[in-house]
Amino acid sequence: MRSGIGYDVHRLVFGRKLILGGVDIPFEKGLLGHSDADVLIHALCDALLGAAALGDIGIHFPDTDTAYRGVSSMILLDKTVQLLESRGFSVVNVDITVLAQAPKLSPFRNAMQENIAAVLHLTADCVNVKATTTEGLGAIGNGEGIAALCVAMINQKETNLLGKLS
Ligand code: MG
Repeated sequence: MRSGIGYDVHRLVFGRKLILGGVDIPFEKGLLGHSDADVLIHALCDALLGAAALGDIGIHFPDTDTAYRGVSSMILLDKTVQLLESRGFSVVNVDITVLAQAPKLSPFRNAMQENIAAVLHLTADCVNVKATTTEGLGAIGNGEGIAALCVAMINQKETNLLGKLS
């Protein structure tokens, strides 16, 4: 078993969709970024890559690569899972906290968890998404952005003496 941590933050601006956990959430602002700026999924990708000691999302999906402009972050998550599975890792569980002053995210929790579980090849009871405000404190509390934290546990298949997957 191996664990990894992920953190990300994106700025909230007018004229962008708010996508969190692959769910299009009705709100007056959206997150700014090269991809769809799904901050929750970015933190999750970083936690998975961290657990596997495979660097971070910026190494694998650089924002200088036009292939990833406007891309759904669920595609980046799928590529991350493929990378882990190619190294013999499977995901055990993930726990995510979104820090947002607004909007209220609880109505979208189940949809996010189901989206993520499907890509991670898990049942939804191995994926937890929760949200908190920062009580109006700081940049997040001022509504300038949304941040996300994630912890992921992964499992590596046993290897034989030659280091091959058994
Ligand atoms: Mg990001």
